Amino acid sequence: MDQNRLGRLTPAHRVLIVGAGPTGLGAAYRLKELGHRRVVVVDQHERVGGLARSFTDSAGFTWDIGGHVMFSHYDYYDRLFDKMLGDEHCLNDRESWVRMFDRWIPYPFQNNIRYLPPEAAYECLQGLIDAQVRHKGAHTPQSATNFGEFIDAVFGEGIARHFMRPYNFKVWAYPPEVMNKQWIGERVAVIDVDRALRNVVLQQDDFGWGPNNRFKYPLRGGTGAFYDRIGEEVREFLSLGRQLVRVDTDARIAYFADGSTEAYDVLISAMPVDVLCRDVLSGEVPQTIRDRAAGLRHSSGHMVGIGLKRPCPSTKSWMYFPEDNCPFYRVTYLSNYSPFMTPEPYATDAYGRRNGRYYSLLCETSESPAKPVDGSRIVEETVRGLEHAGLLEPGERDDIVTTWHYRAEYSYPTPCVDRDGILADVIPWLETRDIYSRGRFGLWKYEVANTDHTLMQGVELVNRLMLGEREHTIGIVYKVTHDGREAAEHERPPVAGSGEKRLAAAKSR
Ligand SMILES: Cc1cc2nc3c(=O)[nH]c(=O)nc-3n(C[C@H](O)[C@H](O)[C@H](O)COP(=O)(O)OP(=O)(O)OC[C@H]3O[C@@H](n4cnc5c(N)ncnc54)[C@H](O)[C@@H]3O)c2cc1C
Repeated sequence: MDQNRLGRLTPAHRVLIVGAGPTGLGAAYRLKELGHRRVVVVDQHERVGGLARSFTDSAGFTWDIGGHVMFSHYDYYDRLFDKMLGDEHCLNDRESWVRMFDRWIPYPFQNNIRYLPPEAAYECLQGLIDAQVRHKGAHTPQSATNFGEFIDAVFGEGIARHFMRPYNFKVWAYPPEVMNKQWIGERVAVIDVDRALRNVVLQQDDFGWGPNNRFKYPLRGGTGAFYDRIGEEVREFLSLGRQLVRVDTDARIAYFADGSTEAYDVLISAMPVDVLCRDVLSGEVPQTIRDRAAGLRHSSGHMVGIGLKRPCPSTKSWMYFPEDNCPFYRVTYLSNYSPFMTPEPYATDAYGRRNGRYYSLLCETSESPAKPVDGSRIVEETVRGLEHAGLLEPGERDDIVTTWHYRAEYSYPTPCVDRDGILADVIPWLETRDIYSRGRFGLWKYEVANTDHTLMQGVELVNRLMLGEREHTIGIVYKVTHDGREAAEHERPPVAGSGEKRLAAAKSR
């Protein structure tokens, strides 16, 4: 049950939105659409877009904060994208690969083990049969209590050792045993024995998996161009360059680092909920709420852009790197996303071949207390890693005309095993104070933390507050317990899919 102390949000109420990323912009846009005018959107940065904003460096290369592939689960999001960008976008085919054993393996790895050296392919198949047919492992996918156990139960020893464990450690920067299995769905391709055997024996390729086979990308300005346009639509609400430092939850006043204040009736926050509860909220905030929120874990990310004066050697979109001969887990040929990502646009000839004098690589490396990274050396280590992994040929280093480095302190919200319990305490408590924490780090649910999910979290929240509709994406259902307390139960949001369902579907094929 919604215990919003204000009841339904009306035009008389003042709404303060913290964070002008996709979540905050989605909420602001929807509020405006519904005729609400008493809205202020603050952000500590001078620009909108949050983690989805883009940068053009002095050499003329455009960079995103990590490879951003737009694929949407929502009609509303699709319509908004079309309204903001019209035909000013590219439609790209996904071409993703895994680099291992000095060769390219089509993604997903587990569907294409026929590309491995025979011994490794045999280990992967044997492990799969041990896990799924002989049930040799300690767990089934259902009984697994963490992501590590889930990997062993679904994929078996070979795939776990060669790919799943090393790759996931590079991405998440935490061992899979500290992570839950609830986030898995569309995010991990599972496979059954029949399909694996068929692909190996019949030498079949199998890379049509996943929700993002084709994806849109803005023609100019990188992924952030979409959010810049939404920002223009809601510019009368924007108040940028203001860092929130304190919220008096009793008086409902927000304080900023520049000494300014904002009074509000409803606060929508997309800032990291651990920081919000631990450092920002004041007033009658139970210590348990602060402590619980502080228990959430995240990883940081180093985004390194490498711009080269050379024709692009590949049509690939992005590639995964599980091995330890390079620091990054993923590299994107960003210049393949649009002709306008480099100082000069490329031209496409009658045969679809691209002719351009420049190309760019965007390389992502994760960091956490369990996986430290020396930020002062990451650019050089990235270049060396590109050489080791066979992306830069000998001598190609001399063609690098620019490098770009961005460190995101909050990059991946770790789905740790106790995450859902923490959120079930923290999110409903905040809502009793009319504070709604949503978004990638506002809600901390990686399974619904892409741009389409987060923008829609903002939209759906406004629909709930103003129209009384249910939020679908957050996957939290509010219940009243027998003693009258409000409780939150987690369900799988319909947009995030489910590992078990996918397994069942694979079995029935
Ligand atoms: C490496 C990486 C790769 C990604 N790849 C994809 C992808 O392929 N496809 C996809 O759809 N999505 C991708 N995403 C996710 C996408 O970036 C997020 O979904 C989206 O940016 C989250 O929006 P948000 O508004 O919830 O949070 P954010 O974008 O983090 O915005 C929050 C805003 O709050 C502001 N803020 C924080 N604290 C304060 C404060 N104290 N005062 C004022 N302002 C504050 C921040 O400055 C920020 O602008 C990726 C993200 C990363 C990091």
